[in-house]
Amino acid sequence: MKIVVAGAGYAGTTAANRLARKIDEAQITVVNPSPDFVERVRLHEMIAGSGSATRPLREMLHERIDLVVASIEEIGDGVVTLSTGQDLAFDRLVYAVGSSNEAPQGTYALGGADQAARAHEKLTELGAGATVTVVGGGLTGLEAVSEVATVRPDLSVCIVSEEFGASLSDGARGRVLDVLRSLGVEIVTGRWTPDDDADLVLWAIAGGVHELTATSPLAVDAAGRVAVDEFLRSTSHPNVYAVGDGAAVPGARLSCQAAIPQAAAAADNLVREAKGEAGKPFSMSFVGQNVSLGRANGVIQASHRNDEPTRFWFGGRPAALFKEQVCRATVRWARSGTAVALPGPR
Ligand SMILES: Cc1cc2nc3c(=O)[nH]c(=O)nc-3n(C[C@H](O)[C@H](O)[C@H](O)COP(=O)(O)OP(=O)(O)OC[C@H]3O[C@@H](n4cnc5c(N)ncnc54)[C@H](O)[C@@H]3O)c2cc1C
Repeated sequence: MKIVVAGAGYAGTTAANRLARKIDEAQITVVNPSPDFVERVRLHEMIAGSGSATRPLREMLHERIDLVVASIEEIGDGVVTLSTGQDLAFDRLVYAVGSSNEAPQGTYALGGADQAARAHEKLTELGAGATVTVVGGGLTGLEAVSEVATVRPDLSVCIVSEEFGASLSDGARGRVLDVLRSLGVEIVTGRWTPDDDADLVLWAIAGGVHELTATSPLAVDAAGRVAVDEFLRSTSHPNVYAVGDGAAVPGARLSCQAAIPQAAAAADNLVREAKGEAGKPFSMSFVGQNVSLGRANGVIQASHRNDEPTRFWFGGRPAALFKEQVCRATVRWARSGTAVALPGPR
């Protein structure tokens, strides 16, 4: 059996490694545009210069896996066409290309390593008193603004959004905003407009639909993500499994917390299919939200199984240490093809 894994982020890497360990007779090929594995959860560290977010992808993949560095440009009937012009035939495709990293002209998206590297370069060129705006008050924006403000207290840093930490409980949100104020971050409630004349604008609005998803023959949901059945198979193309940010998995949010268990479950269903066994419906619970606020501060918010925040949260240095451990664990899980997740709410 020929298996092609499209995309080697958290989902694709987890799926490929799990398949390599569980299915001896398959030929597994991973296609990814970059020879690096990008730890997206650390891109704000890369921008601020407090950490790195890339590591060689080959080191993340099981030795049985073939790696092709290219983009998939087209999905056909049992074949993908690569940016190199090469066609790659598959019996099963694991679709894991994530979401798009687009941002308005003149701003830098927080979702991709190339833009993060350019934003870092730009940041290092800025002199004291220069201005930085982060657009978006979700967890990514909050992490980015606090990282930049911590590393560069000489800059004038602000965050613009209609709401801040909307997914957190009132207590956790209050703590996050207190930390931002203590770092000197200006908090501006409202819509960002392109006439903002900040020296650097970081775009932290959640990723849109990947262009390959928009142009592929795979059926999509109303938001444009690949529609899947309970076994994480494309509803239009049963020889395709879709996982991670590019898949429309009911109840999921764009996160590693969802992408890694989805990838493991899809790989297991593919193995069952290869053995002629019935698939197992995907199910998982969320456990919380982890927000770093610089390297020495953070907030950990516990969740109900349906991802609603509970009243329990903690902050400070213990939260920063906890978040760091979670980031390290995501790499271990992807490299080993392991997923740790509780079954979903009934
Ligand atoms: C700054 C930041 C902080 C975050 N923090 C957290 C957090 O704390 N916790 C959490 O759970 N989530 C967090 N997220 C979200 C999390 O990173 C994503 O949900 C996760 O990366 C989704 O995994 P994925 O494998 O679906 O996509 P990705 O990790 O984006 O991987 C997709 C892969 O597909 C490749 N690809 C793209 N196009 C093609 C193509 N045409 N052909 C082949 N390959 C292609 C990409 O290059 C990439 O390697 C954060 C995101 C950002 C940006």
